[in-house]
Amino acid sequence: MEPTPTHHTPVTPSTTMPADLPGMAEQAWQRWWPQRIGWRLALGFGVLVVLMLVALAQATYQIRNITGVTQRFATGDMQRLLRVQALSMQTEGVGNALIRLINAPRDSRVAEYADVDERNRRIDGAIESLVQDMRGSDQEENLKRLVECRAVYAAAFIATADEIEADNSSQAWRLLNDRVNPALKTMLVESNALLQSERQRIESQLDDAQRQFERAALWVAGLSLLAVVLATWLGVRTTRSVVGPLAQLEVAAQRIAEGDYSSRVSTTRTQEVDRVGQALNTMTDAVAQRERDIEHLAFHDPLTGLPNRTALFQPQQASATEPHCLALMDLARLKAINETLGYTTGDTLIQQTAQRASLALQQAAADGLIGPDPIVARLSGGTFAAIFSAPNRATVEALRERIEQAMGAPVQCSGHSVDLSLTYGLADSGDRAQGSKALPVDTLLRNAEVALHSAKRAAVGFAWHSEAQEAARLSHLSLLSDLRQAVATSQLQMWLQPKFSLATGRAVGTEALVRWQHPTRGFVSPAEFVPFAEQAGYITLVTEWMLQQALRTLAVWAPTHPELSIAVNVSTRDLQHKGFAERVARMIEASGVPAKRLRLEITESGLMDDPTHSVALLYELREIGTPLSIDDFGTGYSSLAYLQKLPVSELKIDRSFVDKLDQSPGTQKLVRAMTEMGHGLDLMVTAEGVETEAERETITRLGCDVMQGYLASKPLHGDKLQAWFDALPVHAAS
Ligand code: C2E
Ligand code: CA
Ligand code: CA
Repeated sequence: MEPTPTHHTPVTPSTTMPADLPGMAEQAWQRWWPQRIGWRLALGFGVLVVLMLVALAQATYQIRNITGVTQRFATGDMQRLLRVQALSMQTEGVGNALIRLINAPRDSRVAEYADVDERNRRIDGAIESLVQDMRGSDQEENLKRLVECRAVYAAAFIATADEIEADNSSQAWRLLNDRVNPALKTMLVESNALLQSERQRIESQLDDAQRQFERAALWVAGLSLLAVVLATWLGVRTTRSVVGPLAQLEVAAQRIAEGDYSSRVSTTRTQEVDRVGQALNTMTDAVAQRERDIEHLAFHDPLTGLPNRTALFQPQQASATEPHCLALMDLARLKAINETLGYTTGDTLIQQTAQRASLALQQAAADGLIGPDPIVARLSGGTFAAIFSAPNRATVEALRERIEQAMGAPVQCSGHSVDLSLTYGLADSGDRAQGSKALPVDTLLRNAEVALHSAKRAAVGFAWHSEAQEAARLSHLSLLSDLRQAVATSQLQMWLQPKFSLATGRAVGTEALVRWQHPTRGFVSPAEFVPFAEQAGYITLVTEWMLQQALRTLAVWAPTHPELSIAVNVSTRDLQHKGFAERVARMIEASGVPAKRLRLEITESGLMDDPTHSVALLYELREIGTPLSIDDFGTGYSSLAYLQKLPVSELKIDRSFVDKLDQSPGTQKLVRAMTEMGHGLDLMVTAEGVETEAERETITRLGCDVMQGYLASKPLHGDKLQAWFDALPVHAAS
């Protein structure tokens, strides 16, 4: 009857109980075994209480039985025995009393008669009560014979008494011997027989009682033993059925604590434990979900859902895709957009860029252009990195064109239509065909960053990282250290490029452009050293030198041509230098030249690097009375709202717009819009880089005010500059 408890079912994902034989016995047992711990305990203890009650009832019944037997024995049987004994004694005694009566003299006979009568009465009393007691018993025959003997004795006694009264003693003796004594003897025999049988009866009754007692003791002992066994079994059973599932829960909780969320607490057929198990399972799911969320947050960018920089450096990321190439993509003018159109617009642009770039890469992978599983990650702000494998650089450039196409449509956002413009820094691990191994992601990223930087500097859409670039970077470093020397030893030159009014054809001013005559390297173009000087913070040396030269020239020109201005290029680094405006003001003052003859040119993209701060700095410069120009306009994507805030007086349309303008109706529309916008803000509009007559005609038609370019004049220096100056028609001083 003992089923084998197999409650320690393992905690494994969706375990089923093994269908072996003990298992089947277990199932049979489970059918009636309650599923709640409460009911199990109630059942266990209930059965125990019932068992105890049965044992108690049985013991009480047996004790009562024995008590009855004892009582009956004490009240009835013992007295009967005593009576039978008394009957025997009286029967014996009456014979002697009769002898004494016969021998007694007449005068003392009365006492002897009383003795004999007393004894006879006692005999009668005994017989009578025995007859009453034993009616219906198996001794009835014995008693009948006894009663008959008594009657024979009574008749013999009366006859004997008559002879005694007649003093006929010999006759009395004869009667005594012949009739009385035999009758008494018979009575004695009968009563002894009765005594004997009574004794036997009592003995057998005592035996019965003894046996009954023993049986009762056995019953109670058996029941108690059964109760003990059942209690033990129930105890073990209940304990196991509770402890087993609880242990299972403990194991499950331990696993959750160790971070194993895949295992499930299986059902135990114990409702309370199952409820806790279910709660644990729910908790496990919740914890696992939360952990996934946290992990997702740690490795993903919340705005775009793309992997973040950290994710990019995860080892499995690199090994899974074996990235061969890394394209760094930088969303242009994001900062400006955030500042002017709001962060929501900026966010939308970032999301759109992320979405379109991811899609383009996936499509390229699906088409087999690049390797499978490319990764696009957002590194910061508007900078994204794509890692993928590609056989060669031509493929990467084809991919870039695809991404460009994907970015083509402008993004509509809160009433604005904004173009997505990306600059790319590309890096690869070398030619795959030649078996070059994939570079680590961090190296690729560093290289791509260098490439991106040079792309931005050269204002081109993309640049590859190359060994030459690395060498150039190092050579620029050495060049920079020469720059300080250059300023001190007059290796720098100021060249001036005239600007002409399109309406009158007259020169309105010049732009100052720096030239460096390096003692060993020869001529170094400003495009080569200005960006590095800006980065290194050396540009202020150049700017101050140029300002000095410009003011000196203006002072020389003032007597004959006070209407001419010189515009000096100012870099954002200059603006950031504390007290720059103050220094400019002091220089102007020292030169004695009117402040309005000096112009300062600041590139649009430079302004957009830090729009809010720039506005404040421009106001400081404007305070000293120097007109300001926005250089390279159209490349920095400032908004109309932003332009309105700037205290500038000239807009210089970048030469990329002017180049072949006459052949491009689309660009003409743009230039017209820019010109109208500039005029709307009361600005003078200058077109840079005019090289052909057709371009000049076009910009004139589109409404530009001033032109600058090789068509009219190249930058001039020394004799050529002097010749140009001398040829200018003289004006009356203004
Ligand atoms: P920028 O300020 O846009 O200067 C105009 C540039 O366009 C000059 O190049 C000039 O020679 C060139 N240019 C003028 N007309 C034409 C044309 O018709 N066709 C073509 N293709 N080019 C034309 P440059 O002198 O090489 O200067 C390059 C850049 O270097 C300048 O661009 C300016 O950003 C920077 N730079 C030059 N001098 C200075 C300086 O003294 N200080 C600072 N901070 N930057 C300077
Ligand atoms: Ca300029
Ligand atoms: Ca320019």
